[in-house]
Amino acid sequence: APQDYQAAPDLLAGKVILVTGAGDGIGRAAAKSYAGHGASVILLGRTTAKLEAVYDEIVAAGGPQPAIFPLDLATATEDDYATLARALDETFGQLDGLLHNAGILGERRPIASAQYPAWAEVMQVNVNAQFLLTRATLPLLEQAPEASVIFTSSGVGRRGKAYWGAYAVSKFATEGLMQVLADELENTSKIRVNSLNPGATNTAMRRSAYPGETPTSNPAPADIMPTYLYLMGADSAGISGAAFNAQG
Ligand code: NDP
Repeated sequence: APQDYQAAPDLLAGKVILVTGAGDGIGRAAAKSYAGHGASVILLGRTTAKLEAVYDEIVAAGGPQPAIFPLDLATATEDDYATLARALDETFGQLDGLLHNAGILGERRPIASAQYPAWAEVMQVNVNAQFLLTRATLPLLEQAPEASVIFTSSGVGRRGKAYWGAYAVSKFATEGLMQVLADELENTSKIRVNSLNPGATNTAMRRSAYPGETPTSNPAPADIMPTYLYLMGADSAGISGAAFNAQG
């Protein structure tokens, strides 16, 4: 099972991989894990100090030199994504992987009283930004011999649940974006596209969603990396359009 996958130490050697929300939580663990398996990682996020800390951790661990790209997905424009794609092309000249990980929880309250600005921000960060980033980077991904795009889902993106509001709806949309893109790319390119539900994981987001829970009752981000590595590396070549779980 992908949850038990054991990645070769050089699984991602020579690959260039972009991780969104790379400054904290699961994205931070994934960036470090990908770099630890040989990838040059582009750290995208909104808090530069956090990205710099991850950068330093990767370098200290002996990983390939990463790059930092600060971007607030709530406000980024089409031009910002074009600038990012150009910078990637100029700096690395290739892109082999894209982990859409950044996300926000938003308000958790009934649809009946959900506030539109909060709703719109969740859809912007969790869905629209993924579309814009995917569209901007597709030309580079298409040049890779074999590329992987991973979208981050959630249990509530596969079955709706009361009071999860825009967050749940955004994750359903994420699954939809994954399926549409996978279908479009089937047979015409070597890009595989899948979704991944990390499952309950001890991060700031989880702790804020479940304040009454003992944080350590959930695995740490570093513990759920096997599926993240499996989907990013060559052992998942040819698998596309599927929904994965990082736990059980
Ligand atoms: P965290 O809140 O710990 O981390 C989210 C990351 O996304 C942070 O680095 C954050 O940056 C970044 N981010 C948020 N908003 C923006 C923005 N506007 N622009 C750029 N970056 C942004 O969450 P998790 O690590 O827990 O979640 C990662 C993914 O996993 C999310 O998609 C989440 O929905 C999903 N998930 C998590 C589960 C869990 O139990 N933890 C369960 C199911 C799904 P900053 O640090 O600067 O705020």
